[in-house]
Amino acid sequence: MTEAAEVCAEDTKGQTCYICTEAVHWKTKEGLVRGCACRGTAGFAHVSCLAEQAKTLREDAEENDLDDEVFDARWVRWHRCGLCEQNYHGVVACALGWACWKTYVGRQEEDGAWTTAIGVLGNGLSAAHYHADALSVGEAELAMEVRLGTSGVNLLATQGNLAIRYHYVGKHEEALLMRRDVYSGTLKLLGEENSETLRESMCFSSALIQCSHLDEAKSLLCKMIPVARRVLGESHELNLRMRRTYAQSLYYDDGATLDDLREAVTIIEDVAPTTRRVLGGAHPTVEGMGRCLHDAQAALCARQALVPGAGSDAHGVVHEQITHKATTRAPRAARPSARPAPWQ
Ligand SMILES: [Zn+2]
Ligand SMILES: [Zn+2]
Repeated sequence: MTEAAEVCAEDTKGQTCYICTEAVHWKTKEGLVRGCACRGTAGFAHVSCLAEQAKTLREDAEENDLDDEVFDARWVRWHRCGLCEQNYHGVVACALGWACWKTYVGRQEEDGAWTTAIGVLGNGLSAAHYHADALSVGEAELAMEVRLGTSGVNLLATQGNLAIRYHYVGKHEEALLMRRDVYSGTLKLLGEENSETLRESMCFSSALIQCSHLDEAKSLLCKMIPVARRVLGESHELNLRMRRTYAQSLYYDDGATLDDLREAVTIIEDVAPTTRRVLGGAHPTVEGMGRCLHDAQAALCARQALVPGAGSDAHGVVHEQITHKATTRAPRAARPSARPAPWQ
C-alpha cells in the first residue's frame, strides 16, 4: 500500500479520497492512489478505503445470502473501479490484490472467497509486472483448483493466465504446453465457432510461433480464420488479429518464399487500417500492427536483396493475391528479432 501511494504521490497531490474525504488515511497514514480510467478530480482513494469498501460489500452479500449475480458484481470491486468501471492497473491492482488476499487467506480452501482471492492476487502481481511471483501464485491456484475440482471454464481461465506468466518469465515451452491444453480444452467444451475457442486458437498459434513450430501455426490459422470470418465478421478485432498472426507465421519463417513474404506484407497492409478504425489509434494492438508491418517489409526487402532480379520494391507486388507459391525456396534472410506476445 505504501509503495502504491508513493508511486502515485505526484498524481494525487492536493486531492482527497472519494470514500473517506481525507488526504491522509486517519489510521494507516497512507497516501492516495489512482490507477483506473478516472480523470480530473475523480477516483482518488486510499487502498485501505477501497479494500474496506470491497470487503464490506462482500460481507453484506454473504450475510443477506444474495444471489450469485449480486455476489459477482460486488466481488469485482477488488479489481475494478466503482466509478469508471475499468480494471485497476499497475501498482494499484497489485496493492488491492495483496489486500484481498490478506482479507480471505484465513478462510477454508473450499470457500469461494479463498479461491477467488488468490486469483485477484495473481492478476495484481502481473499488472505490476512481478511476473515470477505471479507465476508462483498461478501455479498454486491451478494446483488448488485441480485438487478441489472446479468448473472446466474456470480451470481453462487459470491455465490461460498461467501461460501468459510462463511467457513473461521466458519459459516458452511451458507456455506452449499450457496453450495447447487450453486450446483443446476450450474446443472440446465450447465448440469450434465459439469466440473463446477462436481467441485461444490465436493464442496457441502465437505460442507455436514463439517456439518456431511455424507449420503447425500456419495450418491451425488456415483452418480457424475462415471460421472467425464467418462467425465474427471481417472487421472483428479477433479476426484481424488472427490474420496478423498468420502473417507473422509467414515472415518469421527462415524458409519462407518471396511469395510468402509478399503475402505477409499484403495481409498486414490490409488489416492495419481496419484495426486502427475498430480499436482506435492508441490501442496496443494497433501499435503492435505497425511493428509487424515494419518487420514484414524488412524481411521482404532483405530477401529481395538476396534474390537477383527479384526487385526491391516491397510495395510493387503487395496487392497481388498469392494463390500459387514458388516451388523453390528463396535464400535465407535475417529474421526479425521480436516474437509476438500471445494475447496482443
Ligand atoms: Zn480514504
Ligand atoms: Zn475509476
